[in-house]
Amino acid sequence: MTVRHSCGGCENLWTGVARAHCCACHETFDSVGLFDMHRSRGKCKKPQSLRMTWDGVWRSGLLVRQPPFEMSLVGPGRRGAATA
Ligand SMILES: [Zn+2]
Ligand SMILES: [Zn+2]
Repeated sequence: MTVRHSCGGCENLWTGVARAHCCACHETFDSVGLFDMHRSRGKCKKPQSLRMTWDGVWRSGLLVRQPPFEMSLVGPGRRGAATA
């Protein structure tokens, strides 16, 4: 059964309890974490400015834009060479 949520302040409908809709700017976010990100000191930031991407809801763009981790060079390790 699909649970629907609505705002009351706009006509948005969304599904999923984990979604977070902002009653101030009427954007819908994929998670409460993203919602928290866009709320800064009681004000709404534009999702775009936080590198979120729109996919029906705002999602974190950081997940797909993650820079490749630098591989730490792990040497072969020195094992007390040829002590036998
Ligand atoms: Zn907002
Ligand atoms: Zn709304």
